[in-house]
Amino acid sequence: EASAKSAATEANTGAPTIFDKIISKEIPSDIIYEDERVLAFRDINPQAPVHVLLIPKLRDGLTELGKAEARHEDILGHLMHVSKIVAEKEGIVDGFRVVINSGPTACQSVYHLHLHVLGGRQLKWPPG
Ligand code: ADP
Repeated sequence: EASAKSAATEANTGAPTIFDKIISKEIPSDIIYEDERVLAFRDINPQAPVHVLLIPKLRDGLTELGKAEARHEDILGHLMHVSKIVAEKEGIVDGFRVVINSGPTACQSVYHLHLHVLGGRQLKWPPG
């Protein structure tokens, strides 16, 4: 649908994204977890009581999951593990969802790989 696709505003050009400024702290964000490799911060437009974005600090070609290569396996595994740490910190480890939108058809709008960690309410299935 046209309106859904228009939500995916930017093409996957490899251009810098807003997340670079969040990583460099030029733009403030509500950070809930950080280590050398990843950063987790609250989504500005939350879709659930808990909605955290988890990103690699170094994009290294991971504009979207659909561009993943073998060299990304370590960071992808780390992100998955940290999503559980985030869920634990937020008190939702007994029931949470991790979402990755990859590409315009999935309504990805920021082309820097990110995991949405969602919870704090009964989640429905299937998603939209
Ligand atoms: P969508 O925008 O369709 O959810 P994405 O999966 O690319 O697609 O998600 C990007 C997310 O980034 C959105 O949930 C959006 O609310 C969030 N976001 C955009 N800018 C900021 C910001 N400055 N701080 C926190 N979250 C942001």
